[in-house]
Amino acid sequence: MKIVGLTGGIGSGKTTVAKMFEALNVPIYIADVEAKKLTNSSKEIRRDLIKLLGNEAYNTTGLNKKFVADKIFNSPKLLNAVNNIIHPQVAIHFKQWAQKQNSPYVIKEAAILFENGGYKDCDAVILITAPKEIRIQRVLARDKSSKAEIEQRMKNQWSDDKKRKLAAFVIENIEIANTQNEVAKIHKTLLKTASAQN
Ligand code: ATP
Repeated sequence: MKIVGLTGGIGSGKTTVAKMFEALNVPIYIADVEAKKLTNSSKEIRRDLIKLLGNEAYNTTGLNKKFVADKIFNSPKLLNAVNNIIHPQVAIHFKQWAQKQNSPYVIKEAAILFENGGYKDCDAVILITAPKEIRIQRVLARDKSSKAEIEQRMKNQWSDDKKRKLAAFVIENIEIANTQNEVAKIHKTLLKTASAQN
């Protein structure tokens, strides 16, 4: 089975594109959603985050998101340390999940895939792009983040030009209908290459 990574900067439309593949019956793993679940359920993550950030990292309901977000905001070093605690556990969980899927290929959607070397575990990567201003507008319309917070998160992500060099497919996600066509084309190609290799 092939592992296909799906990535793109904040607001590029990764989840939107992932849903299009899901509608074509491709099993989808949304790393961010699974990471959030694991942050509350994994004993290893809890232990290491408390060691790094202190007892306040968790409260009675689970991860103390506000506390952790405040700590890592403006601290690339701490952000990196948090990622180094969470990502290895997500990688293990993903492998276990992928083994259970019965499909020529599966998709792993992750905002950070090139930056942490995760792309090396993928057979191919699909990169979603859109102009920065459009991405900011989309995220402002979608959630409570301020423009400064969005720009801060963008700073922690590689530029599209850098990512493009490592991507097998690039979808410029502006017009939904065009994106849908690109998804259909890529799906066909992936099915062909996956069956050629089996
Ligand atoms: P994040 O990295 O923040 O999780 P993302 O890359 O997964 O974002 P989405 O959540 O898929 O991006 O898209 C961001 C917002 O933009 C959503 O509200 C989505 O509905 C909207 N959107 C995505 N693609 C388009 C498009 N082509 N045209 C208009 N709106 C879009």
